[in-house]
Amino acid sequence: MEQQSTEVLQRLDKYFEEAEPKLIAFRRHIHQHPELSGNETSTARFISQVLAGAGIRHRLAASDCGIITEIARAPDPAAPVIALRADIDALPIQEETDKLYRSNNPGVMHACGHDAHTAMLLMTALALKQENRLPFSWRAIFQPSEEEGQGAQQLIQEGALESVDGILALHVDPNRQIGKVGITPGPRTAFCRDFLIEVRGRGGHAARPYATIDPIAAAAHLITLIYQALPRSSDARDPLVVTVGMIQGGYTSNVIPDLVTLKGTIRALRREVAMEASETLERLSDATAQAFKADIKVAFKNLLNGMVNDELTANACAKVARQFLGPDNVISDDPPSLGGEDFADYTAKVPGCMMTLGVAFPGRKVTPLHTATFELNEAGLLVGPKLLARCLLHWSKKRATV
Ligand SMILES: [Zn+2]
Ligand SMILES: [Zn+2]
Repeated sequence: MEQQSTEVLQRLDKYFEEAEPKLIAFRRHIHQHPELSGNETSTARFISQVLAGAGIRHRLAASDCGIITEIARAPDPAAPVIALRADIDALPIQEETDKLYRSNNPGVMHACGHDAHTAMLLMTALALKQENRLPFSWRAIFQPSEEEGQGAQQLIQEGALESVDGILALHVDPNRQIGKVGITPGPRTAFCRDFLIEVRGRGGHAARPYATIDPIAAAAHLITLIYQALPRSSDARDPLVVTVGMIQGGYTSNVIPDLVTLKGTIRALRREVAMEASETLERLSDATAQAFKADIKVAFKNLLNGMVNDELTANACAKVARQFLGPDNVISDDPPSLGGEDFADYTAKVPGCMMTLGVAFPGRKVTPLHTATFELNEAGLLVGPKLLARCLLHWSKKRATV
C-alpha cells in the first residue's frame, strides 16, 4: 500500500512538473476571459473542452455555468470518494494591471484568484485521469457564482455531493510567500446575512420638514443606531460586524425625497449571533420608524453559512503538508475571517477542508484580493496540485487503517 502510494505520487509529481506551462496557460486564458457570477458560460465551455480532450466524463450544470465530473471510481469499491472544488467566477472590477494577459472583458476581473483555482483543479484532474489504480475515487466540481454565495447550493442541488465522502479546495493567499500554506481546523469564514432596508417617508420642500416625513433624517438616525446599539447588544467575545455599504436617496439640495434605500451585511462566526443581530436590526428599524413616523421595511437575503474546516480532515491535511513543505511552512492557527465563502455549503454536508496557498511576490507590496491591482505569483501554483495529490492519497490511507 505504502509502496504503491509512493509510486503514484512520483508519477503525479512528474506529470505536474512537466505540465506546469499548461497550468500557467490555463490560468492566463481564464484570467483574460473573466465572467461574472451566474454568467460563466464561456469559462464552463473552456473547462468542458479541456476535460473532454482528456476523456474525463462530465456534465454541465443546468445553468450552463458550472461543471461536475463523473466520479472516477477506484478499483476498490470501498475506497473513499473525494470531491475537489474550484470556483470559476470573476468580480465586477476594472483591472488595473499591465499584464499582457490582463482582462479582455471591461469591468470584469479575476481578482480573487478563481482563475488559478480553476487551472489548478484542471491540472489535478488531468493528472489523476492518467492513473487507473488509485486508492480513492474522485470527482472535480467547477462551481459558478461563489462571489454571490449561490453556486455551491446550485451544484449540491444538482447532485455534486452524491456518494461523496469528503471535499477539498484551495484558495490563493497573496499575503503569504510561495511554498507556505494555511490549513487551520475549525471556523474559517463568517455566517453572512445581507440586508436591504427601505425607509419610506413623505417628500416635500426642504424649508418645511414639519410638513414631510423625512426619510433621510430617519435613515441617518438608523445607521447611527445600528452602529451604536448593535455591537452593545451582542456578547463582545463573539465576533460580529455590521456594515452599511450602500445608501441611496434624494435628488437635490432643496427637496426632501420619499425614499431612502440602504444595503448592508451582518457577519458573525456563529449562526446564532448572526440571527440575533438580524432581530436586533429589525427592532432598531421599527423603533426608528416609530420615532420618525416613517415606514421602514427590512428584507434579508438567505444566510450564507460560515465555513468550518473539519477538525480531522484539516489536521490530516496539515500533517501531510508539513511532510511536503516543511513544518515551518504550514500555518495551522490562522484567525478566522469575517469574509464569506460558499465552500461552507459543502462542508456543512460532508467533512472538508479549504487550504490557502501562498502566492506572494518576494519583496513586493501585497496587492490584496478583490482589488483592481491584484496579482498572484504563478510560480506558487504548482504547489496546489501537488498538495491535493498528497492529501488525497493520505485520505485513502486513513480510511484503510480505520
Ligand atoms: Zn472573492
Ligand atoms: Zn475567492
